[in-house]
Amino acid sequence: MKRDKECVFCRIVAGEIPGVKVHEDDRVLAFLDIAPLSRGHTLVIPKTHAARLAELPGPDADALYRAVHALVPRIQRALGVPAANVGVNDGPEAGQAVAHVHAHVIPRTADDGGGSLHSIVPRAARPAVSKEDLAAIAARIRAA
Ligand code: AMP
Ligand code: ZN
Repeated sequence: MKRDKECVFCRIVAGEIPGVKVHEDDRVLAFLDIAPLSRGHTLVIPKTHAARLAELPGPDADALYRAVHALVPRIQRALGVPAANVGVNDGPEAGQAVAHVHAHVIPRTADDGGGSLHSIVPRAARPAVSKEDLAAIAARIRAA
């Protein structure tokens, strides 16, 4: 398992700094966010250090997503809420502050005043795309 001595999440995995844990297995740890966007806001992380999704080995990515899949309904049930946002900020330009892969699970209710993932980019900043643009973008991604 890779570890970065300076990484705050590696230090939580190692028990060097406290984390309020909600799930742990061989490859994954889940703990409550210290500055939650809602009650029950949970971070799900691979135990191995990887700053970015692309650096995370496949088996750890599998385990991460499986843990998210299992935790989302449990968190909703425990908090008594009907919904959640699940997301990863991959890279500082996307808002990633802690350079250790983590999935946010953010419990949501109808009247909490928040938006959807679409609220990440304001309407005025969104690109206009034609059908041709979509086809060209998809072709580039398939070839990348
Ligand atoms: P991100 O912007 O996706 O990198 O989010 C990092 C998240 O980690 C933020 O929501 C922080 O509140 C949270 N966070 C940072 N340090 C800790 C910590 N020691 N324990 C729990 N959550 C933390
Ligand atoms: Zn780390």
